[in-house]
Amino acid sequence: MLKEMYDVIVIGSGPGGLAAAIEAKKTGAEDVLIIERDKELGGILLQCIHNGFGVEIFKEDYTGPTYAQRFISDVHQLGVETLLDAMVLDISPNRHIYAISKWSGFAELDARAIVLSMGARERTRAQIRLRGTRPAGVYTAGTAQRFTNIEGYLPGKRFVILGSGDIGMIMARRLTFEGAKVERVLEIMPFLTGLTRNYVQCLLDFDIPLQLRHTVKRIMGSSRVEAVEAVQVDEKWQPIAGTEEIIPCDTLLLSVGLIPENELSKKAGVVLDPVTGGPFVDEGMQTNVAGIFAAGNVVHIYDLVDWVTEAGSVAGRAAAKYAIAQRQEAARHVKMQAGQNVRYVVPHRLDKESLVEEDQKLQMRVIQPIEGNVWVEVKDGDELVARKGQRYARPGEMVDIKLPQKAYDAVRKADRLTVNVVPR
Ligand SMILES: Cc1cc2nc3c(=O)[nH]c(=O)nc-3n(C[C@H](O)[C@H](O)[C@H](O)COP(=O)(O)OP(=O)(O)OC[C@H]3O[C@@H](n4cnc5c(N)ncnc54)[C@H](O)[C@@H]3O)c2cc1C
Repeated sequence: MLKEMYDVIVIGSGPGGLAAAIEAKKTGAEDVLIIERDKELGGILLQCIHNGFGVEIFKEDYTGPTYAQRFISDVHQLGVETLLDAMVLDISPNRHIYAISKWSGFAELDARAIVLSMGARERTRAQIRLRGTRPAGVYTAGTAQRFTNIEGYLPGKRFVILGSGDIGMIMARRLTFEGAKVERVLEIMPFLTGLTRNYVQCLLDFDIPLQLRHTVKRIMGSSRVEAVEAVQVDEKWQPIAGTEEIIPCDTLLLSVGLIPENELSKKAGVVLDPVTGGPFVDEGMQTNVAGIFAAGNVVHIYDLVDWVTEAGSVAGRAAAKYAIAQRQEAARHVKMQAGQNVRYVVPHRLDKESLVEEDQKLQMRVIQPIEGNVWVEVKDGDELVARKGQRYARPGEMVDIKLPQKAYDAVRKADRLTVNVVPR
């Protein structure tokens, strides 16, 4: 059963989101909820079945799912709530969240603090304007990773990989393990764009050639990829005539960069750094919108998942502190609510600590006139806190009531007081 208000809501359950939720709970946030669009917690780690995770934090060499499970266990043990198979559609700057899920339908939730940890998405063929025919067999490396490692499909037999990013190199090795042939990795830059350790362990160890300053000029094939035309480029990334080479293959994988997933952030009024593509953040990972924090690839693209976890912890701790301060601030005040036949009440809230010496006057306007005796009453739920009788109430004439000092104990116990103007 979802609550209407949470201390901290975390969007996304990758390593950034998991760490943020755990740290928020450990810091003292009461109600913490993770919303995840996938069916399971863990984010991209679930499809990273190779090792290399946790060396910094645990001094252990885990696979992605094992690394994720350590945090998922903590999430459950600490009593963090989770809403899976649920997509956050919109966030307002005052931290109102709209989400949709097969299980709970359309949900509107409020949070004292939000941690954005929606990760990143991969650049596609259209984004790098790759020319040629449009056959089947062109995938981003991450999609091929999901097919191979989670869905159990091998997306091709003979591959060319464009881009020397980590996901592409890791997939070159993975596909080789599965019996596929990786013809080549092409990289337009004069240097490797992924980690050297992945170059050694994934390409060199498996004799997969890497060609720097090379790109795909066009894709060839009608219903399925049949080949790509590779070409060498100059310093301005322009093809050098005469260096073209046709490489037969049935699949082209693209590993040409990640884009922080910030569509939701923009809707919440979060300002993005044009260089990183992620929000501008302070040392607690707070964005320009008070109470909205961000962690992981949504901020900038990380090399190591361990560092994503560290960033998530920082954001979760700061978000919890913010939420606790908000809660304490709210608890100091009693909200004045316009009840029956009342349009508004001023003051809108009372500071419990300053209710000491004088009676407190409340002013209001009624919605409908009542000719005849009326009660002006202040209630905490069904309990009467103060009442005054008068001969009539009219919208054009301001109505008031004094909260006497003897009612202050009752006022301090309340979260909100309702003011009604009703026939006597
Ligand atoms: C396709 C891909 C493959 C990768 N493969 C590797 C690899 O093999 N090895 C490696 O070391 N690193 C890999 N990385 C990098 C690694 O993913 C990151 O370093 C790390 O997972 C980032 O963690 P994160 O928490 O920021 O995001 P992620 O792990 O991406 O988690 C983000 C989560 O947010 C959820 N989400 C997004 N939008 C919404 C929404 N609106 N509502 C609800 N939920 C939402 C997503 O479903 C996802 O579960 C890969 C990255 C990508 C994108």
